[in-house]
Amino acid sequence: MTQPEKSYSWTQPCCHDCWDAGNPESPSPRTDRGELETCVYCAMPTHSGIYVRVDPKLASYPSLER
Ligand SMILES: [Zn+2]
Repeated sequence: MTQPEKSYSWTQPCCHDCWDAGNPESPSPRTDRGELETCVYCAMPTHSGIYVRVDPKLASYPSLER
């Protein structure tokens, strides 16, 4: 059995804009409550505190696991 790439997390930060684009029915409250991280979709720095579960192999800008 091959292990998936372990250095990238499956839980990735997502900025307000990308969240809204993917979830128009439940838009972000636009409160910055997280630490500074890099959006997995657009690579912009964000404090959104929003996280999405995504396959790091398919993600554009996956953050390293900490
Ligand atoms: Zn984004």
